[in-house]
Amino acid sequence: MKMFTPKYPLIQKIFSKVQCYTIVFLLTPGIFVFQMTVVFPHLATTLDASIPKQVAHICLATFCFINVVGNMIFSILIDSTVKRPNKEGTFCEYCRMLRPAKSWHCRQCNVCILKRDHHCTFIARCVGLYNQRYFILFLGHVMVSMIYATYYNYYYVSAKFEDHGWIVSAFRIINPLLRFIIPEPMSIKDMYVVYLFMNVGLIVWSGCLFIYHLRNVVMGVTAYEAKYSELMNSTNWRANLISVFGTKWYLAILWPLADSPLPDYVKWE
Ligand SMILES: [Zn+2]
Ligand SMILES: [Zn+2]
Repeated sequence: MKMFTPKYPLIQKIFSKVQCYTIVFLLTPGIFVFQMTVVFPHLATTLDASIPKQVAHICLATFCFINVVGNMIFSILIDSTVKRPNKEGTFCEYCRMLRPAKSWHCRQCNVCILKRDHHCTFIARCVGLYNQRYFILFLGHVMVSMIYATYYNYYYVSAKFEDHGWIVSAFRIINPLLRFIIPEPMSIKDMYVVYLFMNVGLIVWSGCLFIYHLRNVVMGVTAYEAKYSELMNSTNWRANLISVFGTKWYLAILWPLADSPLPDYVKWE
């Protein structure tokens, strides 16, 4: 008798969950709290910002935070699994049922996913028909939020290194030999430079993924289909965008709780 052996061991499943919960409970709230309790009060004082300007920044930062966290939570909670067999389509040998077009089995989730895009280890689940919009908007809002935060973090970090520039500190972190050139010992202050690099890293990471996934949506393909250039077609780009972000896409991109239903031709119950 042929036995099914799981391809992904338990340790890999645990690792994917750890990545997910690190972002959900530590990284995103951590960055927001640091910006609002350390960077913001410092810059508001040194730049002598007016009260309306301070209120505007508090509102904008909160708006970014809600969009990042909201889209992330919905991309985790909203389910795109195939719940019942379809009358036609391809047969899944694991679920023993027919599934609609573009639906594929995920061995990590161990279910078939409607319009499966890919399995994301950071959210520890598959991106499919119903949660794809939240996943892409999460990436987009992380990118915009980190550009906004990094602009101000740059001023904040630069102010910490009045004696020698932060670039010297950065070189010393990369090459420990430079400790002998700079008389001042390394301190907690140098961690701000690491933080600045982390900011830039997050912009590059989220930006590359956001552009890649948005391009696939515009071209009307999933991440799997994107390997085949002949399947890409940008002539229906508007319909392709609506088929992911919904009929009220202009609200969905601004607010994760906005009601933007998918058009009937892509819905699947
Ligand atoms: Zn299946
Ligand atoms: Zn999966």
